[in-house]
Amino acid sequence: MSGTVKDQSEFTIRLDEIEEAGYRLACSKSKAWISEIVSDVKDISFSFIDDLIIQVECSKSGKSIMVSGMIATAVTLRCVRCLDEFSLPLRATFHYTLSPLHKKELLPEMEISKEDLDGAYYQGDSVDITPLIREQILLSIPLYPHCQESCKGICPRCGANLNQGVCHCDEKVVTTSKFEKLKKFPFKH
Ligand SMILES: [Zn+2]
Ligand SMILES: [Zn+2]
Repeated sequence: MSGTVKDQSEFTIRLDEIEEAGYRLACSKSKAWISEIVSDVKDISFSFIDDLIIQVECSKSGKSIMVSGMIATAVTLRCVRCLDEFSLPLRATFHYTLSPLHKKELLPEMEISKEDLDGAYYQGDSVDITPLIREQILLSIPLYPHCQESCKGICPRCGANLNQGVCHCDEKVVTTSKFEKLKKFPFKH
């Protein structure tokens, strides 16, 4: 676990590092690193199949800090229609404006979660952008992933993946209905 803490601290940028010209960061992180920072997310099933590419630029304007950047990686997801796994490239560009937050400004009745604080504020003389990267990764993962726009899903009767060809359930339905008509036939005449 100590390795993780060390890794994350590299995304803590000191204000004095954000010079007039701005602070730039370009790096890539391993699949294990990304998995670690989203390890508490249990309601979506995904796994990373590519390293994470991170490009970040920070600049200062008065007391605000602007963080712009891009992340890119790829995941495998399970299609909600056909239940097959498929891979999806993820890419997101983002921009945050962080305001300084002084602890004494926080009133006791203000219920601000840690995520809120991480997203829109910074405290002290440094900014940890790891929560921003984490947020962007999670936002770029679709909640209802489809392997393709035209995914045909599975047959509700036999469970066959209809993208791989038609099953024979429909044929049985047709046969049955023809049979029903034949049965009625003698009574009409
Ligand atoms: Zn599908
Ligand atoms: Zn079927």
